[in-house]
Amino acid sequence: MLKRPLALIAALLLILLFSWSLRSKPSAEVARTALIMGTLVEIKAVGPDEKSIETAISDAFSTMRTEEARFSTRVETSQISAINRASTAVEVEPQVLFVLQLGQEISRESGGAFHMGLGDLVKLWNFEAVTPRVPALSDIQQVLPASAEDAISISGTQVERIDPRTQLDLGGIAKGYAVDRAIDVLRNAGLESASINAGGDIGLLGGHGERPWKIGIQHPRNLGELLATVELRDRAIVTSGDYERFFMDQGVRYHHIFDPQTGMPARGCQSVSVVARTVAEADALATAVFVLGPVKGLAFLEKSLEVEGLIVDAAGQTATTSGLKDQIQWR
Ligand code: FAD
Ligand code: MG
Repeated sequence: MLKRPLALIAALLLILLFSWSLRSKPSAEVARTALIMGTLVEIKAVGPDEKSIETAISDAFSTMRTEEARFSTRVETSQISAINRASTAVEVEPQVLFVLQLGQEISRESGGAFHMGLGDLVKLWNFEAVTPRVPALSDIQQVLPASAEDAISISGTQVERIDPRTQLDLGGIAKGYAVDRAIDVLRNAGLESASINAGGDIGLLGGHGERPWKIGIQHPRNLGELLATVELRDRAIVTSGDYERFFMDQGVRYHHIFDPQTGMPARGCQSVSVVARTVAEADALATAVFVLGPVKGLAFLEKSLEVEGLIVDAAGQTATTSGLKDQIQWR
């Protein structure tokens, strides 16, 4: 009789020992970068072993490349290019429908500050030129599109440009969406701790191991220095700044975030960081708030659900939403 309980205890001990060894198994951390959408994308992930992490990271990068091919105005075969060429409605995939509907919602809520129809204006300013220059006002007037509301009409899975001058450009939302899809790939691969940074559009899966991720917010004028840090888990944080794509002309800074009313770079902010549930939402909101400026932008963030933010205005003064104040560690 005595034997059986002993065997039972021994078996229990073995199971405990085995599960303890699994849990305490030192996890591996892998970081990889790739150039996608003209942006250096870094993926960091923690998991049980390097091999499975490497596979998940490379699948995440290929998912981002698929989204680039779907949304890029530089790819003739993309759905966005098809809409920009068509004079009638175009049948679109669910991913494109989702992004266009989200963008339209943020356009409406921001009073048109977020505008997906600035493609010709983006082309005119051409920040990717070797020596970008300020276009003539008459040329800007030529390419100013109709209001954001009247950019496109969506019915069912069909999308149509309402105003022929509209040329879609999703530079302010599709990069964030691609990061969201890549986070899904890492999650579906069974990872619980990862971060993806695509040029300031950051998606976080879980925490950094047991701790939250510590995210640095770039100082908009002292590049290489941090303005602040914030600790987050399972969130998105996106920063839009006038220091990312810009040139100086006669002491004036011209950058790539436009006021759709004037066709000129928005002048109210130096940078805007937004924390939200998804990177696509944070991406578009950061662009919208940058155009709205510090006063209207802060009010807009305060009334948006589960969204927080930090604004650096044109004079370098900071403003933070009430829900983020206590989480910011200033440098
Ligand atoms: P954000 O503030 O997020 O957005 C600014 C961008 O949004 C501008 O570049 C413009 O595209 C657009 N925008 C400007 N004003 C507004 C406004 N008021 N409302 C809404 N949108 C506005 N870059 C390259 O150099 N080479 C590439 O091949 C390339 N391919 C890309 C493919 C895709 C699918 C995407 C999404 C981006 C690509 N880019 C590429 C980068 C793109 O050109 C923008 O520079 C980038 O998306 C800007 O992101 P941001 O976070 O810096 O600025
Ligand atoms: Mg953005």
